[in-house]
Amino acid sequence: MTSFKDFSNVCEIVDTLTSSLEITDVVACFLKSIESQEEISIAVYFMLGKVFPEWSDKEIGIGVGILYSALSKASNTTVEEIEEIVRTTGDIGKAASIVLDNNQKKQVTFASFSEDKVDLSLKNVYERFDMIAKASGTRSQSEKIKHLRYLFNSVSKKEARYLSYIAIEEFKIGVGEGIIRNAIAKAFDTPSHVIERGFMLTNDFGIVAIAAKKGGENEVSKLEIKLHHPIKVMLSGVVENIESVINELDHVAIEWKFDGARVQIHKEGDKVTIFSRRLENITKSLPDVVEEVKASVLEHSIILDGEVIAIDESNNLLSFQDLLKRFRRKHNVETIAKKIPLILNVFDIIYLNGKTLIDLSLINRRKLLKKSIKDTEKVKLCNQMLTNDLHIINVIYDQALKAGHEGIMIKDPNSIYTLGKRSKNWMKKKPIMDTLDLVVIGAEWGYGRRTNMIGSYTIACKNDNEFLSLGKVGTGIADEVLSVLTKRFSDFILFESGSEIEIKPEIVFEIAFEEIQRSKNYNSGYALRFPRFVRVRDDKSKDEINTIESIKEQYDAQHKGV
Ligand code: ATP
Repeated sequence: MTSFKDFSNVCEIVDTLTSSLEITDVVACFLKSIESQEEISIAVYFMLGKVFPEWSDKEIGIGVGILYSALSKASNTTVEEIEEIVRTTGDIGKAASIVLDNNQKKQVTFASFSEDKVDLSLKNVYERFDMIAKASGTRSQSEKIKHLRYLFNSVSKKEARYLSYIAIEEFKIGVGEGIIRNAIAKAFDTPSHVIERGFMLTNDFGIVAIAAKKGGENEVSKLEIKLHHPIKVMLSGVVENIESVINELDHVAIEWKFDGARVQIHKEGDKVTIFSRRLENITKSLPDVVEEVKASVLEHSIILDGEVIAIDESNNLLSFQDLLKRFRRKHNVETIAKKIPLILNVFDIIYLNGKTLIDLSLINRRKLLKKSIKDTEKVKLCNQMLTNDLHIINVIYDQALKAGHEGIMIKDPNSIYTLGKRSKNWMKKKPIMDTLDLVVIGAEWGYGRRTNMIGSYTIACKNDNEFLSLGKVGTGIADEVLSVLTKRFSDFILFESGSEIEIKPEIVFEIAFEEIQRSKNYNSGYALRFPRFVRVRDDKSKDEINTIESIKEQYDAQHKGV
């Protein structure tokens, strides 16, 4: 058994380190010391600030409200006092530690608050979080508080800090996927590219760590894509000059870039599971697509990659916002399915009857895809043209735009399928409109007409495990939208100070702007000129937003006049 105390000690050490190599060494050493397979995977999830792997449907659903209530009950401190401590420390974990410490000092004679508590194992903590995730119905809130209170009462003040970060899945100790990958590699003497591939196929560092512990490279290499577990799909790269790339390749494969939402479809016999780009299981909200897939697929088991688009009765393309009304819908699914019918455009195949196809070329995958599905009214094999003629490419591009789609995808016919990676083997050409996908990390209460509403949002790009601010946006948001957003963000408020609010990074905004400028005002070093809110990108997670490198690239391109 590995104790949560050992885990917290490791976190504390990691917290003092800045070098990735040193952090990797410490984490590797810890992983190596864990005997139980189950606890190895738990340790990996906890280190990443998660309780469950990314593919899992389970959610612990603890917001700051629940966390403060549990902490309040565990420490005889009022929620207001806790909020005040969070405001002064600026950190929920440190505040939890202080609150429990104060209480311990008040009650020195009370054994349950002593530092020498019974050691909770990683498994004990995980099992409690699992109970928290399973709490449902009208009493779910009080159930969650009860379990979390139990945990707070069972750990030391140091452990309380790390427990809080995991509870709200907001870990700030600088262990990202890269470090976990290298730490598993180091702990179990397995090349890190093998670990990476295992992760890409399973989407689960826990599974990979267990395999590595069992038999190093040999076991990890046996890992395969699992049906009904979502995988990270291939993404397109950024290319400054598409024409030069086309000239370099003998031929390119041109497809429309549909204006819809990405889906991956897993089918095994009669069982069909659909995942969104964010890897959420959205099968229940798309029963019509499930039926069409069954009618279209000619093979027993398959994983397809495609884009669903929404159309009206006259077959006209509906907007992205209309399409998202179909996703994650829990009620009146059949009614809305009739109102907003979907068409699935399939453009790739990742798995067929027990075989992972990612190492085949696009041409060969497409041959298999063609044989595996038949067009139905609502499932279509995406048209593809192999060409090196710029004129033809431009004609297809114009047709796509005319049909209301975004542009075209230009793919290298000989390229393999790179899971979860932006690759220059897929490029997109669409009209130049400068927008960035950025996560909201802060906000400010409005005034005047906007009193009681959040009036502006601080937006940030990504740099490894941190988010770097690029400024504020308040323009372009209609009052009705502001009030909907205010409600939505209320669940993500970490703490407030005056009119300033710190927001848990979760929700992604698409932001239009005129220019990227250098700036000392924001910690990214850049600011957007005239930022304007375009829409919420519910189909994107905070991990998929623009990176600081991409901002820098765009800034450099702007200044080269490209
Ligand atoms: P954008 O905001 O331009 O859609 P993105 O970051 O969402 O970009 P990219 O990977 O850069 O995603 O662009 C490719 C996206 O285009 C895919 O994720 C998919 O949703 C969509 N798409 C539409 N048609 C195709 C197609 N034929 N092949 C691949 N992707 C397609």
